[in-house]
Order: sequence, then structure tokens, then C-alpha cells
Amino acid sequence: MTLEKYWQKRKFKKTPEPKGKILKTKQSRFVVHDHFAEKAGHHHDFRLEMNGVLKSWAVPKGIPEKVNLKRLAIQTEDHPIEYINFKGKIPKGLYGAGIVKIFDQGNYKLVNKTEDKIIFILKGKKLKGSYNLIKLKRNPHQWLIFKSKS
Ligand code: MN
Repeated sequence: MTLEKYWQKRKFKKTPEPKGKILKTKQSRFVVHDHFAEKAGHHHDFRLEMNGVLKSWAVPKGIPEKVNLKRLAIQTEDHPIEYINFKGKIPKGLYGAGIVKIFDQGNYKLVNKTEDKIIFILKGKKLKGSYNLIKLKRNPHQWLIFKSKS
């Protein structure tokens, strides 16, 4: 768990994003950011509170709400816990430039976690039920996210 990459990518005098720090918490929250990025276009950023950081994935086509619909989830740098409430406008020219809104937020229950698999139940306002993140073997950053029948 490290925030080095998160810090390296950002200029905290210019971005409204929090600098943050590793923060061990006893909560298990998640957030889905709606990111209207100037470069990458609109996507979801899915973040799970885990081991003092927010484990993060960019989901280009959005978090699936239909059972068994598989979507690519690209793991990105760990974000600080404070980022769970972040929304705002990242100025032009900066990393992640564009508008960030909160699509959904809530708690999750961890069901199973291994090196290449995280299974959890989301208890959000929009997203509810059993979800799976499965690491693809061909690329260390690529995962699939899908909902399954609970
Ligand atoms: Mn993003």
C-alpha cells in the first residue's frame, strides 16, 4: 500500500484533489466516481476502502448493473481514503483533467479476496448485490468486473 504514485502524478498547488495519507480505518466503504475526463472521456472510477487506501479501477464502460455483464476494469494507482468524498473540477492540463462527480457511495461486505480475485457485496444507493473483480492473466493491470446472483 503506497500513495507515492498518486502523489507523483499530481500538483497539489493546482488540483483541488486531497493530498491525503494512508489511513487505517475500520470501515469498508466504496465510491464510484463519474469522471468526465478531457482525455479519456467519460468513465467510472471504482474505489474500495482497503488496507488504509482506496484500491482503484477505471471502468471505461461503467460499472455493470445487470448480472453477468462483464466490463473491463483497469487498476490505477491507490488513492487516499479522503478521496472517497472528492468531487470537483480538475483543471485543464493536469492529470485527470475534467469534472468528477460521485455516482454512488456506500458500504461493502468482503466475501473473498485472493491475489487475483475480490468478491464483495455492494450496499450503495444505486449499486447493490454481489460483485466480482477478477484479474486477467494477460496484463497485470486488467481486471474484469461483473455482478453475479447473490
Ligand atoms: Mn478517472
